[in-house]
Amino acid sequence: MEFDTIAAISTPMGEGAIAIVRLSGDDAIQIADKLFKGIGGKRLMEVASHTIHYGHLLDAKGEVVEEVMVSVMKGPKTFTKEDVVEINCHGGIVSVNRVLQHVLKNGARLAEPGEFTKRAFLNGRIDLSQAEAVMDLIRAKTDRAMNLALGQMEGRLSKLVRRLRQEILEVLAHVEVNIDYPEYDDVEEMTHKMLLEKAHFVREEIKKLLQTSEQGKILREGLSTAIVGRPNVGKSSLLNSLVHENKAIVTDIPGTTRDVIEEYVNVRGVPLRLLDTAGIRETEDIVERIGVERSRQVLNEADLILLVLNYSDRLTIEDEHLFEVVKGMDVIVIVNKTDLPQQIDMERVNELAKEHSLVTTSLLEDRGIDELEEAIASLFFAGSIDTGDLTYVSNSRHIALLNISLQTIEDAIEGAEMGTPIDIVQIDLTRTWELLGEIIGDSVHESLIDQLFSQFCLGK
Ligand code: GDP
Ligand code: ZN
Repeated sequence: MEFDTIAAISTPMGEGAIAIVRLSGDDAIQIADKLFKGIGGKRLMEVASHTIHYGHLLDAKGEVVEEVMVSVMKGPKTFTKEDVVEINCHGGIVSVNRVLQHVLKNGARLAEPGEFTKRAFLNGRIDLSQAEAVMDLIRAKTDRAMNLALGQMEGRLSKLVRRLRQEILEVLAHVEVNIDYPEYDDVEEMTHKMLLEKAHFVREEIKKLLQTSEQGKILREGLSTAIVGRPNVGKSSLLNSLVHENKAIVTDIPGTTRDVIEEYVNVRGVPLRLLDTAGIRETEDIVERIGVERSRQVLNEADLILLVLNYSDRLTIEDEHLFEVVKGMDVIVIVNKTDLPQQIDMERVNELAKEHSLVTTSLLEDRGIDELEEAIASLFFAGSIDTGDLTYVSNSRHIALLNISLQTIEDAIEGAEMGTPIDIVQIDLTRTWELLGEIIGDSVHESLIDQLFSQFCLGK
């Protein structure tokens, strides 16, 4: 395929101080060469691939614009499979913008959002689910979410989906033989048996993948966390120290307001989304107002409950009610205000909290926060919300496609079991094969591709 040369600012993850202008396309090296003055008149057109060069960028009058390091990477061993040049500037956003303007004046076109990744896809460098993983990576809110995105990029999902498609293809091949040679009865029988066997296998694998989607979602969107407790026990103080002790997660998803960003915190790699539903955070009222059962329903939305008690006060009937409400959920009990004289019956607390984790804190004196964070992390990474080592499905388009695939494979199974003619069952199987193909971009319509890539950030 042939494309013009595109350019954009592309700052690498985790390296905020360095700014990069990336070019990709047939003229990438030539354009960079026009602007670049290396030591001893070195020409970029002549250097070996995958090398980096120190020098200066000059303007049309030959004046130095910027001190730069330029990486030259010739296709196809690049991210886009095209010639790629990366101009590293260490001067921050103003100078990097100046470099970009220069590059654009000399024949490159400003890349559309996600266009580098789109080229990688169109040039066959990555498949669609990998391209989407890059998009997730760009949006990844935390380190863990980033690892998830990376894992997908390595193609674990693609690999599994390919394998399932292969299995279906084998059955479809047998069906073809059947239709071509209807006189062989035993072939038909074998096909039926094999079809059911393979279809069951595919169904179970799709189900397994769908089961991981919930955890994938948690990693992507954060563990929705509700802080509950009677008035004055220290809920707001807890929220504040969680937000202040941990970097609030910054996302570049358009439309996220400051409020929303502040609600995300990264506790040792666990993304927490502190629920801001007034009725949930200030449960003191809702338990009274709407009763235990309804409160439970509201709190059911939460993946994690932080239940706060007051060390310097006696347990009340409201406290006991709260324990009833959160029974069976993932709960960390926090006994706060340990700097004050004890009033609480710890024996009773231990009994109430026996299924949960328990930590004591003095939020006023900044004590116990570490233990709380440890409890959150161990609950998430080792406990009931274990992430294991599975292939996660976290992308909503993939989840939707898997759900429809599951439906079509079940239709095929039902048909086969009822003895429906095999060429009818074949229709459902083919559909499953197509749907799975859409996950990895094998049978996708062009407009869907455009839509997907336009969601990307500039420069990726
Ligand atoms: P909420 O009503 O549950 O949200 O409780 P707040 O976080 O608003 O706290 C109620 C009061 O308790 C405030 O005056 C806090 O400063 C105070 N407080 C919070 N944590 C502690 C603590 O560990 N020790 C003491 N002595 N006071 C605390
Ligand atoms: Zn409060």
